[in-house]
Amino acid sequence: MAPIILIKMGELTLKGGNREGFELILRRNLVSMLRSHSPGSRVESRSGRIYIHCASEKGAEGAEETLSRLMGISGWARARKTGKIVDKVLDACVEEGKKIFASGAKSFKVEARRADKSFPLNSYEICCAAGDAVRRETPELRVDVKNPEAVISVEIRERAYIYGAEKKGRRGLPAGSAGRGLLLLSGGIDSPVAGCLMAGRGMGLDAVYFHTPPYTSQEALDKTIRLADITGSYAMGIRLYIVDLAEIQKQIKEKCPDGWSTVLLRMAMMDAASIIALKTRAKCLITGESLSQVASQTIENLHCTESRARLPVLRPLIGIDKEAITVMAKDFGTYETSILPHADCCVLFRPIHPVLRGKVEEAKALYEALGLAKSETDLLFHAVKTAEVKKCGYYK
Ligand code: ATP
Ligand code: MG
Repeated sequence: MAPIILIKMGELTLKGGNREGFELILRRNLVSMLRSHSPGSRVESRSGRIYIHCASEKGAEGAEETLSRLMGISGWARARKTGKIVDKVLDACVEEGKKIFASGAKSFKVEARRADKSFPLNSYEICCAAGDAVRRETPELRVDVKNPEAVISVEIRERAYIYGAEKKGRRGLPAGSAGRGLLLLSGGIDSPVAGCLMAGRGMGLDAVYFHTPPYTSQEALDKTIRLADITGSYAMGIRLYIVDLAEIQKQIKEKCPDGWSTVLLRMAMMDAASIIALKTRAKCLITGESLSQVASQTIENLHCTESRARLPVLRPLIGIDKEAITVMAKDFGTYETSILPHADCCVLFRPIHPVLRGKVEEAKALYEALGLAKSETDLLFHAVKTAEVKKCGYYK
């Protein structure tokens, strides 16, 4: 029989009247993921569940590979589908019992849900009968209703579905259901995680990367493109704007007190990002900043930076320490790329004694004096206009 995957939806099931819209976006995202990773598979939605009918075992493996990136689902499982006949359901439970035993479980329980009340056994009776049937064929398995090592689930709907090991989904909301944001994406550990987290709150993303050739290398750019690809695979694709800030960085270095250079550079980044956000229809800017992680991220310096932003700045990592961020980076699969050793512009031009508690009025005055963005012919507009744009992480 062609493999079937049963998907449970996450938070969007709480959406009341708006649920349908969220479900449509989830389904659209799933279909485009499957087009490239599980060709020939068919998606079916029925009463709060989504089923993928895969064309082959290889297709099922491809589908499972991408489901771990699909935002908005609480979990999925390989399911057996049978007619609504008691013996067939029990046979499928027995097969599932053998499978969970082979995968190392010693104890189990059966959970049953009978949506179709015409089925002759009620949920409790299904659990008892299926438990007995499994134990008869695999007596080594113990029933443990409080702390089972494995659960066999039975759902009696328009057909009967039986499944064992359930994989955890990423939960949250489907990417693209909560407006667009523009991610300031560096080559570090934090900003890709910030992007993935916001994709998991339903944001569609575009990103901007600032580099300073020839001071920063092609490798640093390639690494960021790779990070945009991975982040994009959660966000259903990202357009990456690659902006050359070399001239602006030089001006800051030449004309401003050394201690201010990182904060002023960040202000220029916010300024440029705000202009790009207008084009991409982003409703917010997103950064990987975390309070006091480095000198430029004290609350005072964040205030200075933010003074050049024309949209709300979301910082999903603001209260999270580096160790926890690293765990998330490993989970999202960005970590190994982020730690490749290619310095970006902030590191190269870092001042020896950075200002720790910049006064916002002073920051604004220094920035204004640079005259980077007074008219459309100024450096900042030029940098944005000449940005290269790359599509990253799109499914077919
Ligand atoms: P890490 O802290 O892991 O080195 P990071 O990406 O957080 O990497 P920071 O120096 O902490 O780097 O920068 C804070 C935030 O500013 C980043 O999370 C990112 O959103 C933004 N940012 C910094 N440098 C750049 C850059 N070159 N291009 C785009 N955004 C940047
Ligand atoms: Mg950081």
